[in-house]
Amino acid sequence: MSKQRTLGLIKPDALERGKQGAIIDRILSKGFKIVAMKQIRLTKAQAETFYAEHAARPFFGSLTGYMVSGQIVAMVLEKENAIADWRTLMGATNPEKADAGTIRKDFAVDMEKNSVHGSDSETSAAREVPFFFSALEY
Ligand code: UDP
Ligand code: MG
Repeated sequence: MSKQRTLGLIKPDALERGKQGAIIDRILSKGFKIVAMKQIRLTKAQAETFYAEHAARPFFGSLTGYMVSGQIVAMVLEKENAIADWRTLMGATNPEKADAGTIRKDFAVDMEKNSVHGSDSETSAAREVPFFFSALEY
C-alpha cells in the first residue's frame, strides 16, 4: 500500500493536562511522519462545522462546547495505511472499551474527553485535512 495522509487532533483535555508531548511521542514511535502541525483554538462555529455529521446527536452541544474549551493540536499524519493505523493507535471512542496500549485507554478522561481525533475514512480525511491546513502547509 502506498503512503496515505490523515488528520489527527489532540483534544483540549489532553493539552489541559500537558499530555500532548507524550501523545506525539507515541505517534512518532509508531512510524507516522508529522507532515504538518499547529496549535489553535477553534470557534464554536468551526467546531460545529467540523463535527457536522453529528449535528443531530444528543451529545453535539456538549461535544462542540468541549472542543472550544481550550486549544487543540492539529496534525497531518503520513504513513502507509495511515487512516486505519491512526484509528488503531487511538483506540475505541469509549476509553473503557479501548484496547490496552492505545492512546485513549491511557490518556482519555471519558467518552467525550477522549484526548484524540482521527479521520475515519478516506472520504473523511479528504474533507478534514483541508479543513485545518492549506496546501501550502504540507
Ligand atoms: N462523543 C461523545 N459521546 C458519544 C459519542 C461521541 O461525547 O456518545 C464525542 C467523542 O469526543 C467522540 C466525538 O464525539 O470522539 C465524535 O464521535 P465519533 O462517534 O465520531 O467518535 P470517534 O470517531 O472520535 O471515535
Ligand atoms: Mg468520528
